[in-house]
Amino acid sequence: MRAIAESVAQGRVSATETVAAALDRAEAAQAELNAFIVIDRAGAESAAAAIDERRAAGLPVGPLAGVPVAVKDNLATVGLPTTAASRILAGYVSPFDATVVARLKSAGAVVIGKTNLDEFGMGSTGENSAFGPTRNPHDPGRVAGGSSSGSAAAVGAGVVPLALGSDTGGSSRLPAAFCGIVGFKPTYGGLSRYGLFSYASSLDQVGLLGRSVADVAAALGVMAGSDPRDATSVDLEPAGWAAAAGAGPGAAPDPVAAGGDLTGARFGVVEELAGEGFGPDALASLAAARAALESRGAEVVEVSLPGTALAVACYYVIAAAEASSNLARYSGMLYGQRVGAEREGQELVMRATRGALFGREVKRRILLGSFALSAGYYDAYYGRALKVRQRLTREMDAALGRVDALVTPTAPGPAYASDEKTADPLSMYVGDVATCLANLSGGPAVSVPCGTAVGAGVRGLPLGVQLIGRAGADAALLRLAAALEAALA
Ligand code: GLN
Repeated sequence: MRAIAESVAQGRVSATETVAAALDRAEAAQAELNAFIVIDRAGAESAAAAIDERRAAGLPVGPLAGVPVAVKDNLATVGLPTTAASRILAGYVSPFDATVVARLKSAGAVVIGKTNLDEFGMGSTGENSAFGPTRNPHDPGRVAGGSSSGSAAAVGAGVVPLALGSDTGGSSRLPAAFCGIVGFKPTYGGLSRYGLFSYASSLDQVGLLGRSVADVAAALGVMAGSDPRDATSVDLEPAGWAAAAGAGPGAAPDPVAAGGDLTGARFGVVEELAGEGFGPDALASLAAARAALESRGAEVVEVSLPGTALAVACYYVIAAAEASSNLARYSGMLYGQRVGAEREGQELVMRATRGALFGREVKRRILLGSFALSAGYYDAYYGRALKVRQRLTREMDAALGRVDALVTPTAPGPAYASDEKTADPLSMYVGDVATCLANLSGGPAVSVPCGTAVGAGVRGLPLGVQLIGRAGADAALLRLAAALEAALA
């Protein structure tokens, strides 16, 4: 990614050429992968031409000049539909860009299209989309992971070097693991949520999917920073990103990012996430990560987080509760589609619209969330989930006081087979046990590709290992992840 930007900035290749090549790849892969909801050839070509004109005129072109990127379709984009993969938003065009999209564009990146996802981010497979499932670039008979399925498939297939996703309970990291790429969720507030269609506001973050940790760090460098339009946004280590990226014109490479020594660094393997619930491929990948860290001089110890036994239940109660409130805005009154306009009365029109246009999983979450928040059950479910969240966060904070990062498999194994999880959503939910921890606690987490599966029927499929860091120490976590990546190379 940084090589593309450098070549464009130096005039060795034009933005028009890099972007046209990405558009060609996106179109060629679409029939097989269904990674995109919209591919914007005209818009991307004119954005690329504008960069080439600026360069020709001697104007600055930005650190990501001419880098083709893809954006998950739950992030608002001017001039392109944003559907969140829901029929209820079919045809909706936002009048503004999400802050992260605006910042990427002003750094010179060119959005080539909007990527497929589980409707409103609800799912772990990419199959809950009104536009059909995304397929895995390593095996089209398998899912790409979700909910940022299209972003992961597009990067995994080499269509674009970088894509934006979102991450409420693992939606950037799990698909990244399934597609053999890096997926990152920053500390809560590290990236502005302005223009990200809310699913569960206390858990939602914009995520990044890229080919390397350094690329992800470089993209974060241009997007991070507080935003007056998102009161929960914060400034995270503004100086740290360039170092984590390891390069940037003229910058001295960071020793760790360059694959150096991990002497003095301590990692904690979470005992509860190193056995039951994880398949042999995931455990072998975890062992390989451990060996790689130790080979660079790091100390790896066991840590215990007893609260993980309740993590999935806690996450799904809170996520559904917040979703039931957030999705109340899709009523057919303000945005998108309306069904039954001829009926008498607002309530009937709302019912008809929501009944006809929300998908099954979204309805399930709204029902679950409304129930958990209802007067008689509020304390028993939502109130208790908040207490469990607090306890888990305390356990994680205590563990992260002793180690620099927690290490877990990202997922229970390689990519699920298509339709494997459709009949029983609970079997899909439990696969989020390792990733949802960082959303509940608020800290940063990254999935790094780590080996491939050897099991029958899954041989060669990518696996990922997850590092969870201290809240606010995102650049430090990325430096450790870059070192792990280098050690595994
Ligand atoms: N799979 C989780 C869910 O369905 C996480 C989704 C996400 O991170 N958006 O809620």
